[in-house]
Amino acid sequence: MVEDAIAGHVYRLLAGFVAKHNISVVYMPVKELTVGYIDGLFIHSDIDDAIFIDKDLPLAEKCFVLAHEFGHYVMHRRQMNAVWEKNYWSGSNSSWVVKKEAEADRFAYRLLDLAKRSVQSETGRGYCESC
Ligand SMILES: [Zn+2]
Repeated sequence: MVEDAIAGHVYRLLAGFVAKHNISVVYMPVKELTVGYIDGLFIHSDIDDAIFIDKDLPLAEKCFVLAHEFGHYVMHRRQMNAVWEKNYWSGSNSSWVVKKEAEADRFAYRLLDLAKRSVQSETGRGYCESC
């Protein structure tokens, strides 16, 4: 988890990675719309890539969701076809979905660790006094 004191810095760093890949980030009541089921979502198409994040999450949680969804972009977007859609949304292959989610979680933990280290080295003491 990202500590609140550096969450703003980490989020800006992650948002920069995402923007460099031309991924749109949309803030909306994802949790409410999915009846509490999910905090974020990555959508890939031939035209555009987009990450949807629950607008009401605390910033530290938004960091994790953004890193997790970016993981889907990096690792899974080329697999996002009809088979992916079927496995994901039909609920018929839950072990497959669990595996893909675990991959995105591992990616997120690694990326957040790197981002935190980068922020801590930039700010010297690991936090910004004005935050
Ligand atoms: Zn996921």
